[in-house]
Amino acid sequence: MALIVQKYGGTSVGTIEKIKNCAKRVAKTWEDGNEVVVVVSAMSGETNRLLGLANQISELPNERELDVVASTGEQVTIGLLSIALHEMGYKAKSFCGFQIPICTDNAYTKARIQSIDGSMIRNALKDGYICVVAGFQGIDDTGAITTLGRGGSDTSAVAIAAALKADVCEIYTDVDGVYTTDPNICSDARKLDKISFEEMLELASLGAKVLQIRSVEFGMKYKVRIHVRSSFNDNPGTIVTTEDEIMEAAIVSGIAHNKNEAKITIVKVPDKPGVAAKIFRSLSDANIIVDVIVQNVSVTGNTDLTFTVGRTDYKKAMTITEKSVAEIGAEGVLGNDKIAKVSIVGMAMRSHSGVATKVFETLAQEGINILGISTSEIKISVLIEEKYAELAVRVLHAAFDLGNPA
Ligand code: ASP
Ligand code: MG
Repeated sequence: MALIVQKYGGTSVGTIEKIKNCAKRVAKTWEDGNEVVVVVSAMSGETNRLLGLANQISELPNERELDVVASTGEQVTIGLLSIALHEMGYKAKSFCGFQIPICTDNAYTKARIQSIDGSMIRNALKDGYICVVAGFQGIDDTGAITTLGRGGSDTSAVAIAAALKADVCEIYTDVDGVYTTDPNICSDARKLDKISFEEMLELASLGAKVLQIRSVEFGMKYKVRIHVRSSFNDNPGTIVTTEDEIMEAAIVSGIAHNKNEAKITIVKVPDKPGVAAKIFRSLSDANIIVDVIVQNVSVTGNTDLTFTVGRTDYKKAMTITEKSVAEIGAEGVLGNDKIAKVSIVGMAMRSHSGVATKVFETLAQEGINILGISTSEIKISVLIEEKYAELAVRVLHAAFDLGNPA
């Protein structure tokens, strides 16, 4: 007998019909002789609707109260799914986050899980219940309801799987698994059978929107086997797991792209200690997340410094940087908010040479200019003009032959 945590996302519980289908799948898993804990999101569109209601009253609603509103979508789906299971003759019991409790810090709207008491669920399982848990919800040390940030039910599910030491955490969604790249861009994108936590983390943070990043961090930390699969068919999906479970790591596993980038270049920055510190301090004080940073060597005592920020932060970042430029005595600022980042990710990149060269040659053949480069052990990212993003993904996917299984 295995303990299986299943998470159903908003599209999988978007209608009563779909909720009934989830109930069938849950029941089947239980009939197969497993203990089952189900974590659900709100019906698709519901969380947006709830946030919209609050915004009709206030542009900046109090965040404690906003979480009270936003968390209700999940309370509806746990009740409905439990009722559907009862109708089919199964014992099922719903749990809100605060009932378990799932304890978080008090960063309303983006709270972090601190601890989960698994005893209530364990007891209910022992009594023969299927447990249905609200995703996205927690409770802080003042007793207030918190939410875990958009897409947070993934994190609820993986965290609960970790707390209960479940055998697997199945994430049911509207795609068949994790693909080598976005199938909407590249028709021969291929579903991966397995991917490591490290690779998934890179792909998730680079804009492959299958799993909330924090859920992958949780999975990696507590070694929770995650199975991403479709709730609309029975095909096996993608297993996200530890590196040692993947026999032959791929040089390149996947390609991600992100179009929401903007690039800022400070021209002729005086090359002396404390200058970069000053520039980035003012940006971090304004809560702006800086991504790629490139600084040239100085030949004449000045360097050019380029960095990227999210496009929504672009105007704010430009204003702040212009101020810094005056203070540090640089020559000026150039900005471009039509930038995309394309990244290739793969574990075996660590031990293979020539990957970067192949990326650059492939882009060169298409006449795509590289505006910036950043790398980690298992990733190469290039900044390019936004209009070339899809083309770059397609030619790189072909160059590394990702459409064909290794
Ligand atoms: N319902 C929440 C949201 O829409 C949480 C989730 O779906 O994971 O963000
Ligand atoms: Mg979701």
